[in-house]
Amino acid sequence: MIKQKSIDSVMAAVRIEDVVGDFVSLRKQGQDFVGICPFHDDKNPSLHVSPRLGIYKCFVCDAAGNPVKFLMEHEKMSYPEAIEYLAKKYGIPLEYERSESDEERQQRSLRESLLIVNEFAEKYFMDQLRNTEEGKLMGMAYLKERGFRDDTIDKFRLGYSPDAWDSFTKTALEKGYKEEYLIELGLTGKTQNGKLYDIYRGRVIFPIHNDAGKVIGFGGRILKKDGKDPRKYVNSRENTIYHKSDTLYGIYFAKNAIHKQQNVYLVEGYTDVISMHESGVENVVASSGTSLTTGQIRMITKRTQNITVLYDGDMAGIKASMRGIDMLLEQGLKIRVCLLPDGEDPDSFAKKHRDSELQDYLASESKDFLLFKADILSKDAGNDPIKRAKMVNEILRSISCVKDNIERAFYIKECSKMFDLSENDLNLNLRRLVWEKTKEQSRAAQQQAQQQSGNSDQIMVEQVETPGLVETKKHPDTAPQIDLLYEAEKELVLLVLNYGNYIIYEAGTDETAPEGLRVDQYVCNEMIKEDIRFQNPLLERIFNLYTEWASYIGNQDQIIRNFTMSEDVQISEFVIRNIPVEPRFSKRWKEKYDIHTHTTRNNQRILQNQVQDIILTLKLRILERNAIVLNKILENKELREEDEGLALEQLNRVIQLKKIIAQRLNRVVSR
Ligand SMILES: [Zn+2]
Repeated sequence: MIKQKSIDSVMAAVRIEDVVGDFVSLRKQGQDFVGICPFHDDKNPSLHVSPRLGIYKCFVCDAAGNPVKFLMEHEKMSYPEAIEYLAKKYGIPLEYERSESDEERQQRSLRESLLIVNEFAEKYFMDQLRNTEEGKLMGMAYLKERGFRDDTIDKFRLGYSPDAWDSFTKTALEKGYKEEYLIELGLTGKTQNGKLYDIYRGRVIFPIHNDAGKVIGFGGRILKKDGKDPRKYVNSRENTIYHKSDTLYGIYFAKNAIHKQQNVYLVEGYTDVISMHESGVENVVASSGTSLTTGQIRMITKRTQNITVLYDGDMAGIKASMRGIDMLLEQGLKIRVCLLPDGEDPDSFAKKHRDSELQDYLASESKDFLLFKADILSKDAGNDPIKRAKMVNEILRSISCVKDNIERAFYIKECSKMFDLSENDLNLNLRRLVWEKTKEQSRAAQQQAQQQSGNSDQIMVEQVETPGLVETKKHPDTAPQIDLLYEAEKELVLLVLNYGNYIIYEAGTDETAPEGLRVDQYVCNEMIKEDIRFQNPLLERIFNLYTEWASYIGNQDQIIRNFTMSEDVQISEFVIRNIPVEPRFSKRWKEKYDIHTHTTRNNQRILQNQVQDIILTLKLRILERNAIVLNKILENKELREEDEGLALEQLNRVIQLKKIIAQRLNRVVSR
């Protein structure tokens, strides 16, 4: 491990424009640089590089990060590799940590050892396929018969495991790889009387890579049909490095294309992925199952919101997978489907139609999932009125999964045309479904909250009493108030990050700050005075770090760079995402207050008001949340009488305070 001290000196030396400039030609524009974004198909210079903040941001595809992130995304480096690269570039010597906790070392060395064993196995299988008689005769012949090209076979690192009892296992043991690792990885099996044997014997091998390109597992396809082993495919079983639910076959080879095309094709099998690559479609992965797991969805949404599912003509299979797709809609993903002609799967179809033909077909035949579903169900239902009513409900249920209002309206319009029903009727039914769903969700959330509060009610009542603003326990995140509270906390954090060092009260107006009061000082004073504490742990960490740094770093930009360069990915991601690249007064503020045409005194007053506005909003959100908690406490039938009185009294106080703040806020805002 690289010593923290070394990482810090690298981070202090590195300049974003140098690092990005090594790969993208940059042009100076004001304080910043612009260039063609390498993460999507770009013709205009959408990539902005800000030396002031130490970050790059693309205004089209949303790619953003610090120099390390750029190297990790663009050059596929791991974190330590990126640090080493930068150290070399800037001539900074690195020191390495030797002491690691025993447990850490063990865990790391187990993972590393397993990856090394897999790497050995991958090489062994590759060698068998290319350089042995049996490999060429059996494995290579099979792959050629399927029409795979040499460069594709090499790219996907395909291999062959000889049809012998234990030739792989024996070689691995001779080379010093441990038996327990071979067994853990599912490469080697053990009979009841202790004999070791090759699991993949007589199979063509498809190595499975994680998104960093490391082999984490294998799929093996049987070649002989002698009936001894009836399984067509054998796949790695779950182990320390292989989790099926977090794996998408082909993701390593697809990730750049997914990012660039902003779409991913979802297919079922290994050969579907490989054949489509051969036909020039590289943004394709296989899920090896009909529905995606949340882990797999996360791997996709990291790169794009658009999925196109490729279906072969099998209607039963299509219908079975439709329910699973509703879940993807709920995640806000945009789903399209492409139906292949009868009897074709992606593999066979890609083989028959090379390159542009396949791409044209995919482009012209991909349909919106919901409209596709409506079409299929509609054909199914025919003219049977009962079936048709059921079908309409089914479609509306899917539409209710769509998050975006405008999109929902679009689907209603389309379905109204398709089924010859009035938009009004459809909307009415849709609203009922949405309402039922919301009710269900809030009921579940309430139950959860009740379980969580349990016997701690007493403590919460006491807490409400003193400051008027309370600390409370966790709440269901589905309650809308909680989101508003988060937004208010976020506004406050962004306020100090952007304007912390601006003076809002001149010298002499406050005794505690003889040189005048800065935004960050004012905010801190208010937080202490009102006993405001952050609910969101990430925002709290950022705020605390800010106050620490602001106490000894005079330069606001340097403070921001400390955040954007932070190794804590959560912190750096948050700041990079939310900090405006345009210097200071954000666009919104400019539009709202026309800030640059005012005199300095005027700006100061506007900033003062804005700061007060943000703090008041936060207080209001906290009070709103307290009211919910108190109401919940009052619902408790077994509440003692004196506690009930206390809670009611406090609830009244909360309501009054809320009114006062809402009034003041209104005045500040509308002014
Ligand atoms: Zn971009």
